[in-house]
Amino acid sequence: MFKKILIANRGEIALRIQRACRELGVKAVVVYSEADREAKYVKLAEEAVCIGPAASAQSYLSMPSIIAAAEVTDVQAIHPGYGFLSENADFAERVEKSGFQFIGPTPESIRIMGDKVAAKQAMIKAGVPCVPGSEGELSSDPVQMRKVAKMVGYPVIIKAAGGGGGRGMRVVYDEESLVQAVQTTKTEAGAAFGNAAVYMEKYLQNPRHIEIQILADQHKNAIYLGERDCSMQRRHQKVIEEAPAPHIPRKLIEKIGERCVAACKRINYRGAGTFEFLYENGEFYFIEMNTRVQVEHPVTEYITHVDIVQQQIRIAAGEKLSLTQKQVEFKGHAIECRINAEDPFKFTPSPGRITTWHAPGGPGVRVDSHAYTNYMVPPYYDSMIGKIIVHGDSREHALARMRTALSEMVVEGISTNVALHREVMNDPQFIQGGTNIHYLEAWLKKRP
Ligand code: ADP
Repeated sequence: MFKKILIANRGEIALRIQRACRELGVKAVVVYSEADREAKYVKLAEEAVCIGPAASAQSYLSMPSIIAAAEVTDVQAIHPGYGFLSENADFAERVEKSGFQFIGPTPESIRIMGDKVAAKQAMIKAGVPCVPGSEGELSSDPVQMRKVAKMVGYPVIIKAAGGGGGRGMRVVYDEESLVQAVQTTKTEAGAAFGNAAVYMEKYLQNPRHIEIQILADQHKNAIYLGERDCSMQRRHQKVIEEAPAPHIPRKLIEKIGERCVAACKRINYRGAGTFEFLYENGEFYFIEMNTRVQVEHPVTEYITHVDIVQQQIRIAAGEKLSLTQKQVEFKGHAIECRINAEDPFKFTPSPGRITTWHAPGGPGVRVDSHAYTNYMVPPYYDSMIGKIIVHGDSREHALARMRTALSEMVVEGISTNVALHREVMNDPQFIQGGTNIHYLEAWLKKRP
């Protein structure tokens, strides 16, 4: 096992990784920008290094600063968390070239999966079902473009090969708007991701977002830890996640889980990863793979009792997976609500000083957050300031626990979306389970 690692991230995930390290007996070094000096993960750390000013480009996205921090603190490995440099193949490469272990997959795996066109092709080869669409990159020739769209059938969605975070996508409903839409998406993608390549997929009308969590070690062992339902989204961003996914036959999950495991072995994947699918009419369609730990990993940890972050570290240290697929047991139901510093219904960001922070507790309640009373939420980063995760014997039980937890949550000084979560947890359709990816936005529109 490593003696010391560096956490190249901030916020709740930096704290989460720090906790995993403590339990493993591994020393953790955290990095922070000038805007994060007061954050809880910094205060709790044994060793912390300031890596630059508030702007991410000069701190959390600055490869030289992070590598330098790793060098001066004499760590053996670097955990990238999620976001920032976590899915940057060049970073993973630089980490390894500098003599550190990257806690994640190989740079090659990250590179393939980071290019959604390449990822899809790899998945088709590995026998994972994908959304019908263009084979590879979409041609810029209008005639070709129209031909593909006709074959796929309208509506179609144009997606950037280098896209992420719900950006770089455009839905096209008819042939008239096709060419223009492709052009605009290409221009935007070039500017935002430095890669103008786009591809086309059939736009599924009412799918659910279901993803499979996998773990793979460096000794050709891989397992899946079940699924998560992340259909409650706004602007393609997840708001509420749960596991297991309501009303999907276990046999189907097992089948797709086994496909994902087979794909991991085929592509020699190592570490934790997530296969994201759209699910419609009993069919799964692969959309992308995330080669890192995800925000919503705790719901899986709750139902499987597997510590995903510790597993990432163990795998990077060369250990064999300590459990087989048969030993993975699924118990009860877990739900996660992302707590964002924003207006609950208008969604305007609400950074500033938290004057009161009272987090819920009790059995089956977990709060992952770097916030506290008197903490100043900086305006420079993602608005997520924490997550409430609950576990219950059944979905109904988990819902009841989440309602209680949300009723106990007090945040003053800034606005948060707690009020939104409280309403959703009492919505009859959500309570029934199985809502699709458009449900939350439609619900928001109808809300009085
Ligand atoms: P990102 O990497 O930006 O998160 P994804 O490919 O994972 O992009 O897609 C994000 C979300 O966009 C999905 O969860 C879904 O809501 C929507 N989406 C993506 N592809 C399709 C599609 N073919 N049909 C319908 N919705 C889609």
